[in-house]
Amino acid sequence: MPKAFFIDTSRCTACRGCQLACKEWHELPTNKTKQRGTHQNPPDLNPGNYKLVRFNEHMDDIGVVRWNFFPDQCRHCVVPPCKEVADMILEGAILRDDTTGAVLFTDKTKQLSADDAQVVRESCPYDIPRRNEETGLMSKCTMCFERVTSGMLPACVKVCPTGTMNFGEREAMLELANKRLAEVKKTFPNAMLADPDFTSAIFLLTDAPENYHTYAVAAAPEPMDRKRFLAGLGKPLRRVFANLG
Ligand code: SF4
Ligand code: SF4
Repeated sequence: MPKAFFIDTSRCTACRGCQLACKEWHELPTNKTKQRGTHQNPPDLNPGNYKLVRFNEHMDDIGVVRWNFFPDQCRHCVVPPCKEVADMILEGAILRDDTTGAVLFTDKTKQLSADDAQVVRESCPYDIPRRNEETGLMSKCTMCFERVTSGMLPACVKVCPTGTMNFGEREAMLELANKRLAEVKKTFPNAMLADPDFTSAIFLLTDAPENYHTYAVAAAPEPMDRKRFLAGLGKPLRRVFANLG
């Protein structure tokens, strides 16, 4: 049965436990960092951070300063554009496990040229994949595949102390997401679920998506719109044909 995350940002305190647990489990290296005057650290996803708690501060319509936290990660898209594009360049570089719905970047991504890796990156409507420029490996959240297939929770979900990070059967997560949305809307009438039909990491937002992160919802005007998606495939296809020529 496909799985999903439900990420209830209305509960997030930006403790960054999820971010650290992810690094620990995957034995990812530390980042060189510095104080930049924001709670968000490091500044962006990178090959050593598959999970990043984004921080946005802004003033709302009635002059109240709002802090929004967004524990960013791969959405494990139901039809992943990254895989659709990678398959046309190098089959097997990106896989989707039908049982869990996990989208997995393999060691084969090292064989992608820098240009092709960039094409794969640009196909992601959520700006998630990153490439290690030394090894060529592309990486991102794995859904803690080895934990999940052993009956355990993803590390980020296991450590979250507030109930923000949830994980389970996709249908159950959608049900929980809609239940929480109805509750949260009583306080935040503009609350919404971000692209719930297309992703397996469903975010509940209490504010407009742009007040969290540029890519909080799909960058496409209509998420995963078929016409736009097919049009987007033209770019890598042209590159593949150019390489063949
Ligand atoms: S969020 Fe991006 S990297 Fe993750 S499955 Fe979707 S397209 Fe691929
Ligand atoms: S562990 Fe939970 S509360 Fe802490 S930053 Fe991550 S999602 Fe938010």
